[in-house]
Amino acid sequence: MDFPGNLFVVSAPSGAGKSSLVRALREADGRIVPSVSHTTRAPRGQETHGREYFFVDDAEFSALVEQDAFVEWAHVHGKRYGTSRQNVESLLQAGQDVLLEIDWQGALQIKRRFAQAVLTFVLPPSWGELRARLQRRGEDAPEVIEMRLENARAELAQAKNFDFVIINAVFSSALKDLQSIVHAQRMRYRCQQYIHAEVFRALNMG
Ligand code: 5GP
Repeated sequence: MDFPGNLFVVSAPSGAGKSSLVRALREADGRIVPSVSHTTRAPRGQETHGREYFFVDDAEFSALVEQDAFVEWAHVHGKRYGTSRQNVESLLQAGQDVLLEIDWQGALQIKRRFAQAVLTFVLPPSWGELRARLQRRGEDAPEVIEMRLENARAELAQAKNFDFVIINAVFSSALKDLQSIVHAQRMRYRCQQYIHAEVFRALNMG
């Protein structure tokens, strides 16, 4: 289905800096709307239901899957995560630019459903740096860090299926890279025609 809004998907192994990049992009770009996912994992720290995630139990998640309420869903680190179909489609229909911060399995499902979706994969500059970032974060026990690094090997093998790759070595450059991807997508004929409908009409381009 074709929608007037743009759909951006950003994926990365944990520790690559995806969340900070997406946060900075959103702060600088009022046209980007995040989608709040559902998850079966428990809230962490100050996380609030409806803000970071909709926190649901296994039965609720299964019921939503049954109702076909997700445009994509996947098992990630032993929990289930999914993107609400109704939410994403109504935002896109209203011409909003939606950004999904989801894992690679979800990203590839999105590409199959929304051919115009723009998929970006964020890479760390090296294994050493990825390990150092996970350690600096201080969130995970050493064995969890090893598991995340092990998972990252499989995740990196998926980057070739994405449209764009950003190497997050220097944060400010990586942010510019992400902004350039968003900008280029907005310059597409279909997007310009939607945003500047009056110009197209005045030029008899309908
Ligand atoms: P966390 O639990 O640390 O917030 O997220 C763990 C992983 O799940 C991250 O890679 C995040 O991008 C991914 N994730 C978050 N929401 C969704 C979703 O709706 N669908 C999928 N497929 N992955 C998600």
